Amino acid sequence: IEQTAYQNDNLAMLGKLSASIAHEIRNPLTAIRGFIQLLRPHLQGLGKEEYAKIILAEIDRANDIIHEFLSSSKPSSPQAGIISISALLKEVILLTESEVLMKGCQIVLNVLASDLYISVDVKQIKQVLINMIRNALEAISDRLDDTTGKIELGAYREGGEVRITVSDNGKGMDVCTMSHLFNQFFTTKENGTGLGLSVSDRIIKNHGGRISVSSRINEGTSFVISLPLNPGFTA
Ligand code: ADP
Ligand code: MG
Repeated sequence: IEQTAYQNDNLAMLGKLSASIAHEIRNPLTAIRGFIQLLRPHLQGLGKEEYAKIILAEIDRANDIIHEFLSSSKPSSPQAGIISISALLKEVILLTESEVLMKGCQIVLNVLASDLYISVDVKQIKQVLINMIRNALEAISDRLDDTTGKIELGAYREGGEVRITVSDNGKGMDVCTMSHLFNQFFTTKENGTGLGLSVSDRIIKNHGGRISVSSRINEGTSFVISLPLNPGFTA
């Protein structure tokens, strides 16, 4: 019986690990899909349009497999590491810089007077912040007027918690959207997965924290991630 329990634990861990990898594979696949579509007319000119079709169909197939796989899995429990909030936010800004520049947006970092160190699964928290920045960029692109896109990252201490904020001046959202935000597969986008925030919510809950959101149509959205300074999990 003991051996079975052990094997089940390992299987569960493997499942969770694969789930987070699968989720991250979607981003490069989306980029590849976009570039193939840009190349399509050139391939047509060379009489190789068929190649583009095959590549697109295969990318879609891979996406479907990942999609199906993710519907039955959840992110792994956090592995503790220590990082300063400002280092964390700076790394995230660096990782998303090209996407932000491509959209003609700017990211502002509200640096803390005294830096805080948090004990978190750094990779997972980065994933959450990158998901939120990508959502912000998409909300900015969907804004109808030509306001310059701006994303603000900030952090402050509130009692025994650290709060990290991700704010944008994108299109905002209505109350109905807000109430479904964290549901798995809920998306308002044509090519959305509806996984970013459900996975993020799970990650932050696994850290003993929570995510809250406020938003106004045509003004923007603000996410607040609250994390305990003394985490409820151990390495
Ligand atoms: P996806 O980005 O694939 O749609 P998410 O789980 O990341 O999935 O987001 C779910 C939905 O929440 C989005 O489709 C969008 O409607 C809404 N949303 C998330 N972030 C923002 C934001 N910064 N501004 C406006 N709407 C947002
Ligand atoms: Mg998203």
